Amino acid sequence: MVLINENYLKLTESYLFSDIKKKVTAYQEQHPEARIISLGIGDVTRPIVPAIIEAMHKAVDEMGHAETFRGYGPEQGYRFLQDRIIEHDYRSRGVELDADEIFVGDGAKSDLGNIGDILSVKNRVAVTDPVYPVYVDTNVMAGRAGELAGDGEHWSQIVYLPCTAENNFVPALPTERPDIIYLCYPNNPTGTALSKEELQKWVDYALENESLILFDAAYEAFIHDENIPHSIYEMKGAKQVAIEFRSFSKTAGFTGLRCGYTVVPKELKLYNAAGEKVGVNRLWNRRQTTKFNGTSYIVQRAAEAAYSQLGTQQIKESIEYYMRNARLLKESLQRIGLQIFGGDNAPYIWVKTPNGLSSWKFFDRLLHECHIVGTPGVGFGPSGEGYFRLTAFGRYEDTVEAISRIQEWKL
Ligand code: PLP
Repeated sequence: MVLINENYLKLTESYLFSDIKKKVTAYQEQHPEARIISLGIGDVTRPIVPAIIEAMHKAVDEMGHAETFRGYGPEQGYRFLQDRIIEHDYRSRGVELDADEIFVGDGAKSDLGNIGDILSVKNRVAVTDPVYPVYVDTNVMAGRAGELAGDGEHWSQIVYLPCTAENNFVPALPTERPDIIYLCYPNNPTGTALSKEELQKWVDYALENESLILFDAAYEAFIHDENIPHSIYEMKGAKQVAIEFRSFSKTAGFTGLRCGYTVVPKELKLYNAAGEKVGVNRLWNRRQTTKFNGTSYIVQRAAEAAYSQLGTQQIKESIEYYMRNARLLKESLQRIGLQIFGGDNAPYIWVKTPNGLSSWKFFDRLLHECHIVGTPGVGFGPSGEGYFRLTAFGRYEDTVEAISRIQEWKL
């Protein structure tokens, strides 16, 4: 008898995006004339910039010649990319890292899920709420989440840190000590960010309580304000307590190409069962060299080109395109009296649903009355109830059209 991992049976189906799709399809079938605009799923719409396409063409050609062909590469990533990452993403912000602290992978989601391989299932996990669902689900799979409560929303072993308008989306430090804390800033789904002072408080907490912070900086490229940290390592002491996850997905449109990286500082030490300190960098390296065979050469050359002078400039234009959408959405919806959060340093707008409407009720009305699709906040966690996410990743013309429909809407 072959037994399965029972934890997978505990998982609730992720109905959010399939429920949205079902509702949209049903509505469209009944109203074929309706031109539905989607500001729902967080995928990008701009194509890969020319500097990156050119670098990929060159890398493809290299693969066709015996002299320049590449087979298996280093599991940790090519040095040419690690060096660019260190120089552009860290040294420029006063953070020194060695190449063997950078692990290039196929995107942040894989590493965020896989990091649990090197952490005991006995660890207690804390997440901000609402949250990117991958953090919770991967801990359910590993057996760290406990049991799902009767409300169908809370896991017994997970510490939830509510982020709502009441605390200005700045989570309060936990009252019961978690071992592992997931922080994502700038945040998906709320679009809000933490200042340097606020993030330093979390690093200080982790240092004092010997907790580990898993810092997801997938949206770092959208930061505009000076006082918002791009990396957790800008905070004093962070190398001793934090692993950072980065992605080229939203930064450079790599959602389909797949590339990201994870920083595991050599200073970071955790404990074995005997209470002795163990370096985490060595463990992660061992995990990666055993279970992962590297990101493709062509994609790593593409990621390298994202740091070239031309690449940087072209990417900046794409980011500005999305952030113009964010600004427009935020300002226009505020003008008609909606309470709006986020959107300044992230491509997400977090709307407080008016008149006490539930997230799903607001979804239905926006779909039926304006033909616009967004994401109900409650789908990201219990504290997301009464909120709604709109993304700035749509086409500019669609965003403008969506705004004008909402402005004429009799809510
Ligand atoms: N982290 C957050 C907060 C995200 O919103 C996403 C994607 O939506 C990811 C990570 C996944 O990034 P990647 O495409 O690099 O796997």
